[in-house]
Amino acid sequence: MSLLSDLASAVATGSVEVVDLTAPLHADTPILGLPEPFGNTWPFELVEISRYDARGPAWYWNNIRTGEHTGTHLDAPVHWVTGQDSEDVSQVPPARLVAPAVVLDFADRAADDPDFLLSIDDVTTWEAEHGPLPEGGWLLYRTGWDRRGDNPDEFANAGHTPGIAIDCARWLAEERPVIGVGVETVGTDAGLAHSFDPPFPCHTYLLGAGKYGLTQLRNVDRLPARGAVLIVAPLPIVRGSGSPCRVLALVG
Ligand code: MN
Repeated sequence: MSLLSDLASAVATGSVEVVDLTAPLHADTPILGLPEPFGNTWPFELVEISRYDARGPAWYWNNIRTGEHTGTHLDAPVHWVTGQDSEDVSQVPPARLVAPAVVLDFADRAADDPDFLLSIDDVTTWEAEHGPLPEGGWLLYRTGWDRRGDNPDEFANAGHTPGIAIDCARWLAEERPVIGVGVETVGTDAGLAHSFDPPFPCHTYLLGAGKYGLTQLRNVDRLPARGAVLIVAPLPIVRGSGSPCRVLALVG
């Protein structure tokens, strides 16, 4: 099929660039911290099995210990109580994991106000300039937060991180054709979203609508406002609520 061979050639020659949107995964990769009495996710950990030594003279390998929601990861619908009868992460149709993406850049607003919330007006204003949100594609919400990603304290910012307003989350879930929302922060919801009504509206409405969340993205600033294609690759964890994933963007 010439379309695919043309794509392969374009990638090989660099006329289509592959941008890695994934945060590196290591013991200091920032993770969400919930207050008592809630359970918490594990940080990522490598546990060495052998490294060219008596345990395995010619080979190096590790076990890994991680939460499903550690680092750059996908939230499957079943992650939230509103999506409990929907897909687990192994059931996400592969064709939905290759999809167009648009970038809504609100890094300036989030720099002025770390509790900035994306509103319906913000999105419709963006649509008036750039066209409608893509059918079956991602809304990537840029806040500049990836620049804090190597410093867990700055990344958490004492619970003050940007997000999406309650009515906007509901509107994106129910009235816009996107398959999900991707963010640079630790989760799709704002840092203060535990006190919203409903709490965690992105999780509540988007996952409840069978859509997805994508978190801790980097390099979103290297994508155009529209035209990129995302390849999202979560592990097919059976009954899993999400998975760390590699997220690549094709940019032509
Ligand atoms: Mn998550």
